[in-house]
Amino acid sequence: MNLREKFLKLKNDAGSHSPSINSVLKQIPEIKIEVDACFLSNPYATKLFIEELKTDLFETNEIEKVLEYYPSQSPQIAKYLSKDLQIDSERIFIGNGAIEVIQAFLHNFVDGKIIIPIPTFSSYYEYIINENDVIFYKLKKEDDFRFDVHDYIEFVKANKPNTIVLINPNNPNGYYINESEVDYLLENLSFVENVIIDESFVHFAYEDSDLVQKSCVRFIEKYPNLNIIKSMSKDFGIAGIRAGYGIFSKDKVSKLMKNGFLWNINGLAEYFFKKYSNLEFIEKYELVRKKYIVETQYFQEKLQNLKNVKIYPSKANFVLIEILNGKSSEEIAINLLLDYGVYVRNCDDKIGLKGEFIRVASRSKEENVIILRALENVLNF
Ligand SMILES: *Cc1c(COP(=O)(O)O)cnc(C)c1O
Repeated sequence: MNLREKFLKLKNDAGSHSPSINSVLKQIPEIKIEVDACFLSNPYATKLFIEELKTDLFETNEIEKVLEYYPSQSPQIAKYLSKDLQIDSERIFIGNGAIEVIQAFLHNFVDGKIIIPIPTFSSYYEYIINENDVIFYKLKKEDDFRFDVHDYIEFVKANKPNTIVLINPNNPNGYYINESEVDYLLENLSFVENVIIDESFVHFAYEDSDLVQKSCVRFIEKYPNLNIIKSMSKDFGIAGIRAGYGIFSKDKVSKLMKNGFLWNINGLAEYFFKKYSNLEFIEKYELVRKKYIVETQYFQEKLQNLKNVKIYPSKANFVLIEILNGKSSEEIAINLLLDYGVYVRNCDDKIGLKGEFIRVASRSKEENVIILRALENVLNF
């Protein structure tokens, strides 16, 4: 049997439902992924980090110490970040990935209703202990899933939540709320106890042609209810070492530290945070960050030329694509995988996203050419 026949058999055996891509990969291991356009990271940043690891840890054999000894305790690691963010280290909570930070916040500080815009990154509603506390704010397809600041403020006033969450830029559509709008939003939402802004994709966003890095960290003193959560997995391309952080009030951080989290960071993540506070490294990182944004902009322009799709506006390193040729997103995703080895995210399980959507990440320049060619071919049928 060739791959397509194997796949069709699998589909037949599965009955009325198409098998998910993950189950396809598990059951037909010979499927080769040539380009992973599902995972959302900067591949150039990963390469940079590996080069640094080689020079700093392997060529010097420092790696032995990193692996043999205990890493520093997390308040110590917060001090590295404190320098770069110019924020008191007692306000920084270091997490074993942003996932741990999200869980810690939701389980300790959400006391009442929480408003979460959808579609979005699912952990925010999956980790809430009492699901009845979740109020969804639905981004509208007819508005291209844009975030309307005024409409949102009215919604929050009407629902009186304890906590609100914004992911900026949002995942899966990449819509970005610019800094002046965030400022306006925070100004008008001072009555909410906790405002969480997740900036995991913010290094890919920009507001000017110099691609200056943006962040609402600058509002942290101005708005005491502001809490920031950030993953390092996507922009630095290091999901494997698990590194993320939160910026909360000192009280919140010390309450969390009393519950544990003292030794939650591994030696490689500690090495990363140390690098992060090193100017020389950050200068190199800025080069690969900007290179990747420029290539992503080019990729998005090319995507605009595709037929039979709608491309949603994005300032992140991925785009949400609506399929308009009558095929399902599952079919398109499977075609891309089996015929072209291009793995994309089929979004049919995302709450708040009705219709046929796939999410496609920007990868290296060469990989983006492969993704574009595959999409062109698959969509023309
Ligand atoms: C990936 C992601 C995270 C989690 O990142 P980790 O640091 O890898 O745990 C958090 N928030 C958003 C919006 C994400 O996309």
